Amino acid sequence: MPTRVIGGVAHARREIVEVCRRLYHFGLIAGQDGNVSVRVKEDRMLVTPAAMSKVDVRPSDLIELELHPEHGASSKGKGQESSEVEVHFAAYAIRPDIRAVVHAHPPVAIGFSVAGETIEHPLLAELKYGVGTVPLVAYEQPGSRALADLAAKSLRSYDVVLLQYHGAVSVGASLLVAHQRMESLEHAARILLVARQVKGRSH
Ligand SMILES: [Zn+2]
Repeated sequence: MPTRVIGGVAHARREIVEVCRRLYHFGLIAGQDGNVSVRVKEDRMLVTPAAMSKVDVRPSDLIELELHPEHGASSKGKGQESSEVEVHFAAYAIRPDIRAVVHAHPPVAIGFSVAGETIEHPLLAELKYGVGTVPLVAYEQPGSRALADLAAKSLRSYDVVLLQYHGAVSVGASLLVAHQRMESLEHAARILLVARQVKGRSH
C-alpha cells in the first residue's frame, strides 16, 4: 500500500526540526544523541545528520536516503547520515504502516534498562493509552546491524522499545505520534521512579 504523505517533503523537513527541538527541551536527548526520520515516499526517508546537536538541526541539514533492502542506498544532502540509521531502515522494512521513527536517549527510562527492567504498569495512563507494552531489547553495539535486527524483531509487534544501556525507539503512523510515544515513555518512567522512592520511604 503506498505511504500517504501529508504535506510533502518540505513539510516533513520542518516537522523533523520541530521534533528535534522538542526532544532536546524535554531532556530526551543531549550532546549529539538521537535521530529522527520520516518516510517521505514509499522508498525514501528523510533523516537527521550525524555529528550535530539535534537542537541545532535545520531543514536543509536533513539527509534523504533511499529505503533499499540492501542498505546500499543513495543519499541526497550535505552531511553524513546518523550512524544509527540501521534501526530506521529495519523499522520501515518490517512495518509498512509506519511513517516515522524516533530514537532518543530518555535518561530515566534508560536507568530502568540499566537495572534490567522495562517501563511497565498495568494502570498508568501514559503507558496504557500512549505507549503500550515496552519490550526490553538486549544490548548490542549502538549503530550495529545486530542491534537494528533485534530492535526490528520487537518493533514488529510493539510501537516503543527500550534498548538496554542505550535508549529507546518509537514509531508511528505520523511523526507527531512517534514523538508523543517517546515523551510518554519518559514521563511514565519518571512517575514510576517517584512511586518507588515514595514507597521506599514509607517503610
Ligand atoms: Zn542512540
